[in-house]
Formats: sequence, C-alpha cells, structure tokens
Amino acid sequence: VPRRPHLLVAEDYAPNQAVLRLQLTGLGCDVDVVNDGIAALARWSEGTYDLLLTDLDMPLMDGLELARTIRLRERTRGGHLPIVALSAAVVGDERQRCLEAGADDLLSKPISASGLSAMLARWVTLPERATASIGGDGQSLAGAEGAVLDLDRLYDVLGSVSRSRAKTLLATFLDAARIGLKELEKPRMVAIGVVREMHRQRSSAETVGAMRYAVMAGALEQQARTGLPSSLRERLLSLARELDAVEAAVAQVAGGADSGPAPLPVDPEPITHGSVLVVDDDPVVLMQMDQMLHGIGVQEVLSARNGVEAVDLVARRKGVVDVVVCDLNMPEMDGVEMIRRLGQSDFKGALILMSGADEQILTTVGELANLQGLKVLGQIHKPVTPAAMRSLLRQTSSAPAGRSAVSSDPASTPEAIREAMARGEFLVWLQPKVDARTLAPQGVEALARWRRADGSFVPPDMFIVLAERNGLIGELSGLLVAQALADGARLHRAGHRLKISINLSALWLDDLNLPDLLARSVDEVGLRPADIILEVTETGVTKDVTVALDVLSRLRLKGFGLSIDDFGIGYSSFEQVGRIPFTEMKIDRSFVNRGVRDAAARAILESSMAMAQKLHLTTVAEGVETEAELEMIRELGCDSVQGYLVARPMPVQALLDWLAARPQT
Ligand code: C2E
Ligand code: CA
Ligand code: CA
Repeated sequence: VPRRPHLLVAEDYAPNQAVLRLQLTGLGCDVDVVNDGIAALARWSEGTYDLLLTDLDMPLMDGLELARTIRLRERTRGGHLPIVALSAAVVGDERQRCLEAGADDLLSKPISASGLSAMLARWVTLPERATASIGGDGQSLAGAEGAVLDLDRLYDVLGSVSRSRAKTLLATFLDAARIGLKELEKPRMVAIGVVREMHRQRSSAETVGAMRYAVMAGALEQQARTGLPSSLRERLLSLARELDAVEAAVAQVAGGADSGPAPLPVDPEPITHGSVLVVDDDPVVLMQMDQMLHGIGVQEVLSARNGVEAVDLVARRKGVVDVVVCDLNMPEMDGVEMIRRLGQSDFKGALILMSGADEQILTTVGELANLQGLKVLGQIHKPVTPAAMRSLLRQTSSAPAGRSAVSSDPASTPEAIREAMARGEFLVWLQPKVDARTLAPQGVEALARWRRADGSFVPPDMFIVLAERNGLIGELSGLLVAQALADGARLHRAGHRLKISINLSALWLDDLNLPDLLARSVDEVGLRPADIILEVTETGVTKDVTVALDVLSRLRLKGFGLSIDDFGIGYSSFEQVGRIPFTEMKIDRSFVNRGVRDAAARAILESSMAMAQKLHLTTVAEGVETEAELEMIRELGCDSVQGYLVARPMPVQALLDWLAARPQT
C-alpha cells in the first residue's frame, strides 16, 4: 500500500488554506501549509515532499519566484519536486509564465474537488481508500445519480456504524420527507415554500444516499424558483412514490445479516473532544452527525434545531461545549446572528461552519466569527464525511495548539523568541498609506518581521500570538515600538512628515502605565504623539473593556491617534466603538478583496463606511491589490488606502528610496 502523499501548500489567504487543507486531507494526503514563498522554501529544504501547490501572489516571495528558486537549487541538490501553481484567473500568458518558472501544472481558482483529484492523479500515488468522495463534491455523485439507495454513499457519511443505525437514519429521512411533502399539499402554498422544502429534502436525500430522490427534489426546487409549477400535485405524487421505492430498498437491506460495512482501519489518533454541539434545522443531518461523530470518537454529541436552542443550551452548560458545528442557513435565528450571540456568551470553544453542497459559505461569516473572538476550525460542506470532520477536529483535540504549525516549528518556541530578541532578529518594515484619490503618501504602518539566521521569515501572525501566549508580548512590543519610532524619526528628519501607525497588542492594553511609557518614548526620539497612530483590533477592545477604555482614553488625551484595526462588521461592537475616542477606522483586507464580487461583503463595507462617517472617523482600506478594488474603495468614499497595489512593506531605507522616486506632490 503506498503511503499517504506529503504535500506542501503555499498560500497566504487563510480561508483558501482551510479549504485546501480540507480537500487534500479528504483526498488522502498529509498537508503542510505555509503563508509565503520564503517559508515554503525553508520547509522544502528541510523536508521531503511529494508535491508543492503554490499560490502565485504571496507576500515576501511569490509563487513564480518560489518555483524558480527551487528549480535552481535542484540543479545542485538533485531531484524534481512536482510544482502545481494555483492561480486566481488563468489569463493571457499566465500558463506560459508558470511553466517557464518551473511549474509542472496549473490549477485555477476556485479549486474544485474534482479538479484537485484529477491533478493529484497526475502527480502522486494515492493510497487505496482515498478515492472515497469528499464532502461537497457534486461530481463524485455522478456515477450513482440514478440509484434508489446508494449504500456506499450512506456509509461514506456515516463512517463505520451498524446496519441498524443506518436504518434508523433512513427511517428519519423517510418520515421527515413525507411530512414535508404533506405540508406542500396544503392550499395556498407559495413558490418559495416549495423551493425551501425541496432544497432541504435534496440535501437530506444526498446524505442518506437516496440519489434518485435527490435529483427529483433538486429538479422541483429549480423549477419552483421561477414560480409555482402547475404540475405541483403530480410532482409531489411521484416524489411520494419514490419514497416508497426507497423504503422498499431499505427493507431489502435490513433482510440481510446485521453486519454493516467493513470496519474502517483503526484510527491511530482518535478524536478526544468531549462535547460537540451540532446546530441544524434538518433532523436527518442531526442524526447523521450524531452517529458519525460518535463513530469517530467524540464523547458527547449535542444537537439543537436552531440558533435560539443552541444559544440556550450553551448558556445552560455555562459555555462548556468544545465545538459548535453550525449550519448557516436556518430559520428563527440564522447562523450569523447565532455566532454573534455565542461571541457575547461564555462560550470558549471553537466553531465549524457548515453549508449545503452548492451553497457558498460566506468567508465573511468566518471573519465575523473571528472578530467575535471565536476560533473557527474551518468550513465544511454537507453531507459531512468522517474523514473531513476528523481532520477539522484534530486541529484542537489532544493538546490545544499542540499540533499547530506554530509549535511544531522548532524556531517558534518561547525560547526561540527570547534568543531572537537577544540576537536582534526582529525588524520593523514600513508600508505606505496613501490618499485614496491623489495617492500622495500620508503615513506608514510599522509591521513586525522576524528574520531568522538562515534568512527565512516567520510570519508576524504566528510569533505575535506566541509571544502573547507566553507573556513575552510586553518585551517584544517595547522593542518593536522603539524601532518603529526610530524609523519614524528618521523619515521626519529626511523631510517626510508622515504619520507612523503602530499595532498595539490587545494584551498590552491592560497595562495602565502604557500611556506614559509611550508618551515618553515618542518624546525621546523627537516626535509628537500627534505623529503617531495606534492601531487596536476590535476584539482586543472587547476583552476587558474598563481597563482598555481607561488606557485608550488617556492615550487619546495625550494626542495619539487611535485606529480600529481589521474592522469588518458594522454592528459588532458598536457600543464600545462609540465609547472609545477613535480617530480612524481600518477596513479589513478580506472585506476589501471580497467587496468587488461578494454582495454581502459589499454591504458590510457600506455599513462600515456609514458608521465611520457618523463617528467622524477617517477611513483606511487595507489590502488593496487591484485597480478594481481601488475603484470600489474610491466609490465608497474611503479616505486612504494601503496595499500591494501601492507598495508592499519594506525596510526604512527602501522606503526612503521609494519616497524619493515618487513625483513630488
Ligand atoms: P494587520 O495589522 O492587519 O496588518 C496588515 C497586514 O496586511 C500586514 O501583514 C501587511 O503586510 C498585509 N498587507 C498589506 N497590504 C496587503 C495587500 O495588498 N495584500 C495582502 N495580501 N496583504 C497585505 P503582516 O505584516 O503579515 O502582519 C500580519 C498581522 O500581524 C498584522 O495585521 C498585525 O495584526 C500583526 N502585527 C504585525 N506587526 C505587529 C506588531 O509590531 N505588533 C503587533 N502587536 N502586531 C503586529
Ligand atoms: Ca494593523
Ligand atoms: Ca488587517
């Protein structure tokens, strides 16, 4: 049996990372994910990989440069690593450029499961069992489309359970579907009711393997989208007949010995989660998840039929639930509202977002949950398979953060941070912030960089969190702030009177001495507090509001600018935002990127802008990468922009050169 292929994925956008990890693990691969080309290169030189999947546009070193560098080094080192480039849109000579850089293959985003598995088949050898379908891949159904009852499909989503359990699930499906059909026979039924019920039934039917029924329900759903079909009665009748056929098929199954499918190979690492709460309005999904989760080793599976029930249940258990798996599309209280309530409750667990196979999970929702301080393990499509679920739950089971990339990397331990501080490996790079209309430079944001002795970079998201967890953030921040101020002073001395934006860790905000300390440091380098903007994240502010409020108000009184960083949801912490004397709002780059194509993100952008205006905040859009995004940002009336389109973060000397090369404005 071939071993599981070991893949390296280089991709800087967290939601894409999560999806790729999910898809590739589901296809039977072991996956390491890194955020940029430099990190990818470091991993490549340390380990053995069967394949590299790389995004083209990444910070520090892009995909083409990465491919080129690997090919160059292979000349002395030997070997040939298959490299597959991931591109947002295959336009013009992109393919040619990828091949010239040394890539072997190209996949375009969004990446379909079928596209991925075809690609894998070209480059690696998959272990036997890995051909099983993974959640959400419509294509994998193709062969079974006509089956009255596809048992393989059912066991795929249930895992190894006895036949009697599978039968119970089928009975639940049959009951729920019959009740649903009855409802639709009622007079004055409206089209949207039919759409909703058929949508739900199709998804349940796919879950239990009633494939022909799923196709029929899907067809009626589509038709009802354009109005109530005149043949509704007949359609409902034939659906009811199909349910009888499914029931007959179930009876036949039950006639055999109660042996169930061959058990899956023993799981070397059973899931150690105590309790998982599944929230879904479909009883079939609740039961399937209950059986499947127990099957993979979850000790307690709780369920709720809507957001209200879920929030109550979490409150009754005083927040003691490890993971909440929730459908986003529910009546009563939808998933988005529920996430907001969970964020405000005692809930300390993690979240998995779930959606129907053909629904787009709004990445926005994941961002929203993050802003609420919730940990999002990932997103998953229905029907959810044991393999997909296991790989998501693994991320937090056993030791918390024990298996994450941060701590498995020997360079990212608290000791390594201490040593790196002593050796002066932490640097500050500056990224220009410019006027949205004239593109004239207004300020710079200081961003931390950790350059290790071998020249590789550790991403700040990683070491900041690590420093926060290990009580090192005060020391590290002090060091970074000093460098940022020194660089800022140098810019001012060179005649560039730019504002210096500095990121403040939320954990630093509970230090009541901070305002005096910062005021003194600014004074020492010859700058004034008004030259400095302190960036704070929303989630940071909501933790200990009273102390943070005190610290921030005093900073503002001293004349520092205060910016809300990563702003994303118009209403999230409106109260806090209103109470703190902020001067600037920075709109998170994920909303900027999505706003161009995603109506929900666009709506959030608009409401954020309206709120900023009401509070008299200047607005900055971060992560502007394309002309289209700049255009949108201008239309929205944003004051300033920051992003790769204008300039990437760079060392102070490079920034001085950049400023010198610009036409005077
Ligand atoms: P942030 O405060 O949201 O910083 C903006 C991030 O977006 C930076 O990532 C920047 O390099 C990146 N960026 C800017 N323009 C673009 C663009 O057009 N496209 C893309 N894809 N990215 C863009 P970076 O430097 O990796 O920093 C990540 C996060 O680490 C920062 O997010 C901030 O939260 C934290 N951080 C960085 N430096 C410090 C620091 O000195 N102290 C603290 N407490 N946190 C820091
Ligand atoms: Ca920032
Ligand atoms: Ca951001």
